[in-house]
Amino acid sequence: MSDHTKMAVDLLIVGADIVCLDEKGTVILNGAIAIKSNIIHWIGKNSDALKQFETSSTINGSGMIAMPGLIDTHVHTAQHLLRGKLAEIARRKKIKIPTWKNYYIPFEALLDPEDVYLSGLACYANMISVGTTCFAEAGGPHPDEMGRAAMKAHIRGFLAKSTIDQGDAYPPSMKTVTKKAFKNNVDLVNRWKNKSLVKAWLSLRQIMTCSPKLIKMISEAAPDLNTRIHTHLCEGSYEINYSMEQFGMRPAEYMESINSLNHHLHAAHSILLSPDELDLYVERNCSASHCPFNNYHVGPHPLLNMLHRGIRVGIGTDGAAPWSSLDIFRAAHVARVGQQAVAGTPINFHEIMPSEKLIRVATNG
Ligand SMILES: [Zn+2]
Repeated sequence: MSDHTKMAVDLLIVGADIVCLDEKGTVILNGAIAIKSNIIHWIGKNSDALKQFETSSTINGSGMIAMPGLIDTHVHTAQHLLRGKLAEIARRKKIKIPTWKNYYIPFEALLDPEDVYLSGLACYANMISVGTTCFAEAGGPHPDEMGRAAMKAHIRGFLAKSTIDQGDAYPPSMKTVTKKAFKNNVDLVNRWKNKSLVKAWLSLRQIMTCSPKLIKMISEAAPDLNTRIHTHLCEGSYEINYSMEQFGMRPAEYMESINSLNHHLHAAHSILLSPDELDLYVERNCSASHCPFNNYHVGPHPLLNMLHRGIRVGIGTDGAAPWSSLDIFRAAHVARVGQQAVAGTPINFHEIMPSEKLIRVATNG
């Protein structure tokens, strides 16, 4: 019989130690979370919850931590079935750089929609198992199938389509003419705009694969569509050299010169930034994704500097293909070690990147 002095809720999680990651850094030992209509209704001590709420559904969280979900700010869903393959190839022969051009794009070209759907299911189930509850897709083939998989897995996410309209080295299915590339992006965003769990962003694979015309068109469309643009930027020396040769300026400066560096742009990697480019990131308020598994063999990623300067930066795995992990806790640990080597050790400071600071980055996205 129900107790009318108690409020009915849909679910009670009891006994967990709750790490709120709020401004005060609240931690509730032996806590409880009450969920009603799919939202967190109440958080507090377990003993108080039992007095205030009744439910037919309880999860015992004793011995566990409850905390906000982690966000993977740069993942390649469609490369998931390539997991660990590069490491296996590297044992037999020298890997060809850049890997995205020599391995990942040719692999993506082979996938049919069902492959991407299955890839998505495996990728998102893996994410949920390690505490990730939201992802930003970097841009791959058949993004609607990623969305179908994300809905099935009940994970929040932002889809994106691999977008290439220039260059000779890409399989025909991965490249299209500028007008079609633009339309594909706009149509994708519109198809997903009314869904609650999954939305779509616009995408530019990177400056070497996208014409200035397409970059400008996509940038101009983002405010009207009220969406973001996922791209790779300042990721490798080859890209800097290309930008200097083609445009006489560095990649972020080039994006700024065509009015495409702004708060709609989400720039994955952003490793090789000059001081002037870092200033541009601050002025234009674009966001970035630090992918620790991959970034430190390219250069000393300026994560700490970015945070000090108020740049919106999150942690990304870059997908499971290169380092076989979608674990943002592991990625954050690598970021901590990396930032210590880059920014702490040179000044003999041992706590340059405290874990609490990093976990906030990993949950804020
Ligand atoms: Zn990537």
